[in-house]
Amino acid sequence: MTGVRVELAGVTKLYGTGVDAIVAANDVTVNIEPSSITAITGASGSGKSTLLHLIGAIEAPDKGRIRVGKKEITSVGTRGLVKYRRTLGFVFQRYHLLPTLSALDNVIAPVLPFRTTFDKAARGREMLDLVGLGGRENALPGQLSGGQQQRVAIARALVGQPTLLLADEPTGSLDSVTCAATLDLLIRIRAEFGMTMLIATHEQDVAALADRRLHVRDGRIVQDIVADDSHEGKASVEAVAAD
Ligand code: ADP
Ligand code: MG
Repeated sequence: MTGVRVELAGVTKLYGTGVDAIVAANDVTVNIEPSSITAITGASGSGKSTLLHLIGAIEAPDKGRIRVGKKEITSVGTRGLVKYRRTLGFVFQRYHLLPTLSALDNVIAPVLPFRTTFDKAARGREMLDLVGLGGRENALPGQLSGGQQQRVAIARALVGQPTLLLADEPTGSLDSVTCAATLDLLIRIRAEFGMTMLIATHEQDVAALADRRLHVRDGRIVQDIVADDSHEGKASVEAVAAD
C-alpha cells in the first residue's frame, strides 16, 4: 500500500451568504507529498476541519480544484465520490464508535456494505492486533478507556486499506501519556503502510512529529514548515506568508 499526492488549487469554502458569510477556506493552494505526515495547526475556528472535510469530499468547495492521486475529486460525480471515499480513513476527536457494537464490529462496519477481496472479520482482528487490542474484539466501547476507544477508531480507519488517512484532532480527548502513545501508533502505521496522513491538531507534540506543518488562520495557510529530517529532505522553511 502506498500514499497518494493531495493537491489543492485555489480552494475556497464559504458558510452562509452575503455579509454573514464565513470564509472557512480562503484560496488555499498546497501540494502534499505522497506518504507524508502533515499536521494542520491553528486556533479553534481557523479552518482545520474544513480543510479535512473538503479533502475527504464531505463538503464541496465553492471555488478551486482538489486532486487526490489521479482523481480530481471536485469534478467526479456521486458514484466517483462514493468510490473515492472508500480509499480514505477517518479518525475523529470523539472516536464516533457505535456504542452497541463490539470493537470488532465497529472496526469492520465501514467495509460491511461492500464485497472485499479479504475476509472482513479476519482483517478486523488483524487491525485490532495491530493497534494493541488483540483479545478485546468483543468489548463494547463503554468497556474501553478513551485511548483504547481511539485505537479501535484507528483500526476502523485502516480496515479498508486507505491511501489517505484524515485525522481531526485525534488526540484532543486524551491525556498526555495516551496522546503520545496514539501518536507513536500513527507514526508506526504510516511506516508500515505508507499512506499519506493529514492530522488537524492544536497540540504541539503532534505538529513536532509531522514531516510538515501547515498553520492555518482565517481559512488561509499562513505558515508552511517542512521538517529538516523529513523523508523528502527539503529545507526547513518553505514559505511564510505575511499575515
Ligand atoms: P477548526 O476545525 O479549525 O476549529 P472549522 O473548519 O471547524 O475550524 O471552522 C472554520 C470556520 O467555519 C469557523 O468560523 C466555523 O464557525 C465555520 N464553520 C464550520 N463549519 C460550519 C458549518 N457547517 N456551518 C457554518 N459555519 C461553519
Ligand atoms: Mg475542527
